[in-house]
Amino acid sequence: MNRRLIVAGNWKMNLRRDEATVLAQICVQTARPEGPEMLLFPSHGWLSDVARCVTDSLVEMGGQDLSEYTAGAYTGEVSASMLKELGCKYALVGHSERRQLFGEDNARAAAKFVAARAAGLIPVLCLGESLQQREAGKAESVIAEQLDAVVALVGVAAFRQAIIAYEPVWAIGTGVTAATQDAQAIHAFIRSKLASQDAKIADFVRILYGGSVKPGNAADLFAQPDIDGGLIGGASLDAESFAAIYNAAHV
Ligand code: PEP
Repeated sequence: MNRRLIVAGNWKMNLRRDEATVLAQICVQTARPEGPEMLLFPSHGWLSDVARCVTDSLVEMGGQDLSEYTAGAYTGEVSASMLKELGCKYALVGHSERRQLFGEDNARAAAKFVAARAAGLIPVLCLGESLQQREAGKAESVIAEQLDAVVALVGVAAFRQAIIAYEPVWAIGTGVTAATQDAQAIHAFIRSKLASQDAKIADFVRILYGGSVKPGNAADLFAQPDIDGGLIGGASLDAESFAAIYNAAHV
């Protein structure tokens, strides 16, 4: 299957409001109808500003996180329906920084996946092992557990309207990218896990790679048969680098 590639920028808690607006405007100019899909994940504080820039463009927007709760007394949380109302189409779920720094476990990530879908958002489920887990030969089992927690709750059919991002924790923001073959092997593993339950969905779902993607390594990664684009952190903050990565993703 020829899956349409996706290049997504995760801006994290970076960029001033004016910088985010300018970058979003440049991204709108970069996206091409025949090119990959472009998604931007600004911080929650700048969603309205970025929404104004990307409305009626080829660029879609998502939240970097969301609450697993629908509404109520959850100070500091942002619900899926709020993201939707702000113009988001997507939401990151279970990013490794949420898992590592904010104690988000597999059950909570799965509950957020459910909340996103219930509000009509497309979840981008992030999976990935730490360096210690990789060195202990546990990369596949960790990823399988992260994926199984979601599949057990929502069923494999939910992945018809979801994206997966494989992001090895040791590669995020470190400048160390997974070797292309290693990344491809984990992507193939994730796809085969889904295929054991539904071959069509496994073939259809887009699996992005994230972890120090740069203009210099993007084309090799995106050429792999099971890598359907990238989730880009640091390099998405620079208009030129992000455009080069976008342009490296051939449809
Ligand atoms: C990320 O935070 O999702 C990410 C992939 O970051 P970086 O590209 O900076 O490694």
